Formats: sequence, structure tokens, C-alpha cells
Amino acid sequence: MNNPARGRARPGRLTLAAERHPAWTDGALCAQADPEDWFPEKGQSTRIAKAICCRCPVKAPCLAYALDRGERFGVWGGLSERERRVLARQRMAAA
Ligand code: SF4
Repeated sequence: MNNPARGRARPGRLTLAAERHPAWTDGALCAQADPEDWFPEKGQSTRIAKAICCRCPVKAPCLAYALDRGERFGVWGGLSERERRVLARQRMAAA
């Protein structure tokens, strides 16, 4: 089954215009990896993506970017969609 998230912007391969291209993406480790790992099919593991994110020097700005934009698909900053939703709810509750 095709994943509708495939082809969407992802941290290491954002396709924004140069003036809107966040500088932190230059350090994205996922730019050198298989994009399929950041958008696994339903029920498939995010383990590979998360292991790479864990070592990524731009993990913090990547996660902040995804949360600010409400990215709904894929692994960003080491967190899955569901984990980002939980974090966003916790932040809203604490505000
Ligand atoms: S934290 Fe993960 S998703 Fe974000 S840029 Fe780094 S490797 Fe890519």
C-alpha cells in the first residue's frame, strides 16, 4: 500500500525556496539516509529513523520546526507523529 506521506517535505530534504530553507537542515543526518525510514507504513518500525535522529546534531531545531509547523507525518526530531501530538498536548496543558 502506498503511504500518502511519501514525497512530503522531510528534514533532510526540505524543498523550500532557498530564502526559506532553515540553516539547520544543512546538518540533517537523514539527508544521507533512506527517506522511507522516516515515513514507515502503518505498523512498521520507526527504530532506524529514531536511531539516526538520536545522533543528529540538529535534533532540537528539527523537532521545534516540526512542532511549530504542526507536521503531521513522519519522524522529526526523533519523535513519531503520535509522540509529537502527545508532546504538543502536554505543552498546551502546561501553558
Ligand atoms: S533529527 Fe532526525 S529527522 Fe531531524 S534532521 Fe536529524 S535525522 Fe533528520
